[in-house]
Amino acid sequence: MKNDQPYPTISALQAALATGETTTVATVNHYLKRIEAATDLNIYVEVWAEEALQEAERQDTARADGKKMGQLAGVVVSLKDVLCYAEHRVSAASKMLKNFVSPYSATAVERLLKEDAIIIGRTNCDEFAMGSGNENTVYGPTKNAADPDRVPGGSSGGAAVSVQAGTCLIAVGSSTGGSVRQPASFCGLYGLKPTYGRVSRHGLIAYGSSFDVIGLLGREPADLALVLSVIAGADEFDSTAPNRMVPRYDRTSSEGPKKIAYFPDLMHSDGIAPGIKTDLENTLEDLKEKGHELVPVTFDLFDYVVPAYYVLTTAEASSNLSRFDGLRYGYRHPEANSLEETYRKSRSEGFGLEVQRRILLGAFVLSSGYYDAYYERAQKVRRLIRDRLMAILSENDFILMPVSPSLPWKIGAQKDDPVANYLADIYTVLANLAGLPAMAIPTATGEQGLPLGYQLMAANWNEAELLAFAERLKKA
Ligand code: GLN
Repeated sequence: MKNDQPYPTISALQAALATGETTTVATVNHYLKRIEAATDLNIYVEVWAEEALQEAERQDTARADGKKMGQLAGVVVSLKDVLCYAEHRVSAASKMLKNFVSPYSATAVERLLKEDAIIIGRTNCDEFAMGSGNENTVYGPTKNAADPDRVPGGSSGGAAVSVQAGTCLIAVGSSTGGSVRQPASFCGLYGLKPTYGRVSRHGLIAYGSSFDVIGLLGREPADLALVLSVIAGADEFDSTAPNRMVPRYDRTSSEGPKKIAYFPDLMHSDGIAPGIKTDLENTLEDLKEKGHELVPVTFDLFDYVVPAYYVLTTAEASSNLSRFDGLRYGYRHPEANSLEETYRKSRSEGFGLEVQRRILLGAFVLSSGYYDAYYERAQKVRRLIRDRLMAILSENDFILMPVSPSLPWKIGAQKDDPVANYLADIYTVLANLAGLPAMAIPTATGEQGLPLGYQLMAANWNEAELLAFAERLKKA
């Protein structure tokens, strides 16, 4: 799909702002028009038009006065509806939080604002980030701009289409098991899931806390690199975001031939759509031609990946979502006569079906008598998976994999089949189980006009290499 941005990269935009070729107000107005034109795709839950324009005016004045501008000056960004922004609504696409106003901002959001990013609105997603098609939402499905009959992927589906349809330059999403890479790939974009802990989770509505990470979607690896440099790093509000140096991701370059591991068994698997298989083969060929070493490796744990992921994330979700009890905040059923009834009615009506399904599953695997058989076992499997991937990455720069076994499906086609949805997460949940950074890289447009791509995984804290390599491939 063509890049319909007036200035396709952050650096091009900022150069044009610096010379006065364009203004921040003109930029914001452009995106507001695009949002208007794309209403049918159901991308945004709420657009903060007036505020964005006011901020644009402030920036234009500051620039004219010769003030030093932030690193993201003029950059229009969308926020997935699971990121808190002070004095703004955030709902996790749930009836439970429909009119909830956040009293504080996520650390990532604060860091964006501090560098003069302009937040244009919040995007539709799967309820509490649970899903792969952006269909589990109280606002109705978001549509893929490449084919509006199809899903954009999920759970950050609105985030992906917000960039795909040219309504902003960068989308901020979140990933528990693939919610950045999979929608990015379904919409022909780059999608980065950083190392667990690289970006503070403070102010990200929790799904599976030991998996969740804030990620970025865009059309340019260099743009993602700059934005990551701004939002990454230690945070006193999140003890899982360690005090590790944040490199200037945007100033890292990739040199020399790389060793790229891949799983040949996957290439022959019937589970992968033919178009995706051919594209992967082309990608491998292309990388070889460019002088990189492709290393076939085996991984015998694929059968355990999806079960381990769903046991652990539903367990964490059932605990995280227990705070929505109808009392403290969120939806409270108007006609409950006792405490018990308040819990039951508020939660039964406030949460959608998929969220309820996962809470039940999570409570089950944590319950006494089943804990050892499911939860504890899944934790052991998680460790095995992690060790195996780390071993591969100790000898190779990257692991190359498909993002999804299937192309974007028709809206509604998998709605009654949760297991089909879960199984399609097989390749993305790996990186989250292991905490590793991974990136979706778009390649081509397939037969039905649908975007194709693959993903690369790197060792922990190596997103600099990942971003730089993606940028190098793009330039070549
Ligand atoms: N599709 C996966 C799930 O439903 C991943 C979601 C996510 O990354 N938030 O759990």
